[in-house]
Amino acid sequence: MKIAFYDTRPYDKLWFDPLLKEAGHEPRYIENRLDIHTLEYARGADAICVFVNDKVTKEIVDRLADMKIHLILLRSAGYNNVDMKEAYEKHIRILRVPAYSPAAVAEYAASLLLAVNRKTHKAYARTRDFNFNIDGLTGMDLYGKTAGVIGTGRIGQMMIDILKGFHMNVIAYDVFPNPKLDLQYVPLEELMEKSDIISLHCPLTEETRHIINDQTIGMMKDGVILINTSRGALIDTQALIKGINTHKIGGVGMDVYEEEDSYFFEDWSGKIMDDRDLARIITFPNVLLTSHQAFLTTEALHQIAATTLENIKAYEDDVFTPNEICYQCEEKGDCQRRQNHQKCF
Ligand code: NAD
Repeated sequence: MKIAFYDTRPYDKLWFDPLLKEAGHEPRYIENRLDIHTLEYARGADAICVFVNDKVTKEIVDRLADMKIHLILLRSAGYNNVDMKEAYEKHIRILRVPAYSPAAVAEYAASLLLAVNRKTHKAYARTRDFNFNIDGLTGMDLYGKTAGVIGTGRIGQMMIDILKGFHMNVIAYDVFPNPKLDLQYVPLEELMEKSDIISLHCPLTEETRHIINDQTIGMMKDGVILINTSRGALIDTQALIKGINTHKIGGVGMDVYEEEDSYFFEDWSGKIMDDRDLARIITFPNVLLTSHQAFLTTEALHQIAATTLENIKAYEDDVFTPNEICYQCEEKGDCQRRQNHQKCF
C-alpha cells in the first residue's frame, strides 16, 4: 500500500521504515501537519497515517473520499482529532493504536508530579548556572497524601499503581468504574475537594472538555498539584491561569495544552510566540510544560509501528480488528457489531 504519513519526525521513520519495507508497503513521509493544503501530498496514496495534532476535519474527510482514500491510520490511542461521523458516512475506516505503552505515559505523569512537587526543573536550571542556593525549592512529602485520578483505564491504572507505591491514598473518578480494581471511586466533586494532587487520564470528549474549569478549580484544595498528560482541552486555559495567579493551584505538570497543535513538535525558539496564554503559562515558576512527549519511549515507538502494521494487514485482509473505531461504536458505547467481532461496516 502507498501510505502518506503526516507530521513525521526522524524517530517515526526509524521505527516504521524497516517494518513497512519488509511488508512491501510504500511510505511517503511528510513533515507537515495534515491540513487542506498538505492533503495534496497524499494524492495517489491508499491511506493516510496521522498523529495527535493532525486534524482530520469534515472537509478533509470529504476530500479523502474524493481522492479514493478509504483508510485513516492513527499513530495514537486518542481520536478526538477525527470527524468520526463524517468518516463513518463516507465509509472511511479508522484504525488506531489503542495501547502502545500505558507505562510510558503513566511513568511520565509521575515524573512530572515529582519534578513539579520538588521543583527539580528549577533546581536543574540553578545548578547549571552554578547557583547552589536551595531557597524556594521546598516541596511536600507525597507519602500519606491523597491523589485523585480521573479516568481509570490503561494509563490511569498504571499511574494509580505508581502512586500507591509512594504510599499515597488514591481516590478515583470514572464514568465507568471498574469493579475489578481495588479502588475507592468517589464523585467528581469529592475528588476535587479531597485531593492534594490530581492527575487526568480520561479521553477528551464533549463530556470531559474543560472538566477542569473555574468551578472545579474552586472546589480544589489550596496548593493542589495538577498533572495533565491526556489532552489539553480537558483544562480550561483561562481558568488554569486564574487558578495559578490566585495561588489556588500550587503546581502544574502539563504535557498537553489546549491550543498545542499550532506549536508543539516545532522549534519556536527563534520566533515571536503569538499565543499569549501559552507564553504566560510558561512564565509561571510552578508550571512544568512539555511538548506532548509522554509517549516517547523506544518501547512505545516500536509498538506504535508494529500495531499500525497489524492494522494495515487487517485492512488488506478485510478482517475484524478491535483497533477499528467508528462513529457507531462511539455513539453506542457497547456496539453489538464490535461485540460480535464484526467489522464496523
Ligand atoms: P483508556 O480508554 O484505557 O481509559 C480511559 C478511561 O477514561 C476509561 O476508564 C474511561 O471510562 C474513562 N472516561 C471516559 N470518559 C470519562 C469521563 N467523562 N469522566 C471520567 N472518566 C472517563 O485510555 P488510556 O489508554 O488510559 O489513555 C487515556 C488518555 O491518555 C487518552 O485518551 C489520550 O488522550 C491520553 N494519551 C496521552 C499520551 C501522551 O503522549 N501525552 C499518550 C497516550 C494517551
